[in-house]
Amino acid sequence: MKFISTRDKSKIVSASTAILNGISSDGGLYVPEYLPFIKDKLKDWQNLDYNTLAVEVLALYFDEFSKEALVEMVTKAYADKFSQNNKVALHSFDRFNFLELYHGPTAAFKDMALCLLPYLMKEAGKLQNDTRERIILTATSGDTGKAALEGFKDIKPYKVIVFYPETGVSPVQKQQMISLEGDNSYVVALKGNFDDAQNGVKKLFADKDFEIKLLEKNMVLSSANSINIGRLIPQIVYYFYGYFQMIKIGKINLGDKVDISVPTGNFGNILAAYLSKAMGLPIDNLICASNSNNVLTEFINKGVYNRKRNFHVTVAPSMDILVSSNLERYLHFVSDGDDILVKSLMDNLNTTGIYKLTENLKKEMTNIKAYSYSDDKILDEIKAVYDKEKYLMDTHTAIGYLAAKEDEKNPILIASTASPFKFTGSVAKALNLDGNFDEFQLIKDLEKHIGQSAPNCLKDLDKKPVMQNHNCEITQMKAVIEKILEV
Ligand SMILES: *Cc1c(COP(=O)(O)O)cnc(C)c1O
Repeated sequence: MKFISTRDKSKIVSASTAILNGISSDGGLYVPEYLPFIKDKLKDWQNLDYNTLAVEVLALYFDEFSKEALVEMVTKAYADKFSQNNKVALHSFDRFNFLELYHGPTAAFKDMALCLLPYLMKEAGKLQNDTRERIILTATSGDTGKAALEGFKDIKPYKVIVFYPETGVSPVQKQQMISLEGDNSYVVALKGNFDDAQNGVKKLFADKDFEIKLLEKNMVLSSANSINIGRLIPQIVYYFYGYFQMIKIGKINLGDKVDISVPTGNFGNILAAYLSKAMGLPIDNLICASNSNNVLTEFINKGVYNRKRNFHVTVAPSMDILVSSNLERYLHFVSDGDDILVKSLMDNLNTTGIYKLTENLKKEMTNIKAYSYSDDKILDEIKAVYDKEKYLMDTHTAIGYLAAKEDEKNPILIASTASPFKFTGSVAKALNLDGNFDEFQLIKDLEKHIGQSAPNCLKDLDKKPVMQNHNCEITQMKAVIEKILEV
């Protein structure tokens, strides 16, 4: 399997190169040159445990790695950092099935891919005979940052530098990042929003002078953001797994169609669902669920992407995004790999902030729906579901659930992307547990209120010493990195 750039089909690279580079030199994203169709394997796969299934899926795309190497990577990635009896759990009522993807080291779904990525990179480096020191440069809306820091913690030869929006992350997310322990990691608060951070990081990847400067010190940049194909492919696994779990508990039979609802920001998680459908998993509709940053809702309903709008800080901060990177990959697939078209749309987005699909292309976007919700609606729904079902959703998952309710037909899998304890302030407010403004005390209040304990990684977080406290202006990102790396 080779990988091509969304903006230039003639740029063909191996899996290891795609994983190490993160982004293609023309600014495009890597996509597999074809999608394996494995419908006839569903029967064999349905009883596999998570790790074995992961190896099967990864082997289809990353066939450059040996099966033994994949087994070892997957085993290490999902070992002690994950809750073992429910690495990925399913919670169901009525036709709703919550695929809980947050039982990893940072209590959000990004752990599923980011615990594996360092091993994929390491193996890719071996195959490429590349021993340079890798600088993992990451922009985060709150969850990627800590998951990358955890995933790469103390793994050599990596350094991780994370930029997070100073006022755009929850207190728990912030404390998770600044109390980090790895001696190869750096966290920087950016005076800007997530789009500023992501944009700044993308610029640095395209900065040739910077590349040369780093090379002189035997260093090279890599990306842990979901633009990296090594993030995307591991996320396909859990949609298969979730579907098979629904069979196991008798919600569906093999071959029945389900819908999938995904609370969406950078469009990575939902794109993995799209790929699993293209591979033959019986999915009917994909539902793209957003908060009041409704740029994707408008795009899917009207065919116009317009990033020129107010940016809202919402109760679901991990989805506060206006430029959704992975949509470029979706455009690649729906346009049947039209690189010239994708490049022109992306150029339009860069220069004017807008692009518009032709009617013909818009028609290709079938079986995808989109909805968005206000903060009030999200909080009300958390309370309603808790009162009725005694099931506590976090703010992001609640958006996925709201969107899942819009359509009253198929059994539906909802990507449950974070533990409710990760966004305690908002979740406690939803349950009317106010009166306490300290999120860390609130974690304890919430534990008591619902009679369940918080994930270990969030307990006593406030007692962990703050190890890092860098901050910078949008224009200083490069200078800050140079200082950290001493180049
Ligand atoms: C990152 C994140 C999302 C959005 O996922 P994308 O792949 O960026 O669309 C949703 N919920 C949570 C909790 C997240 O951390």
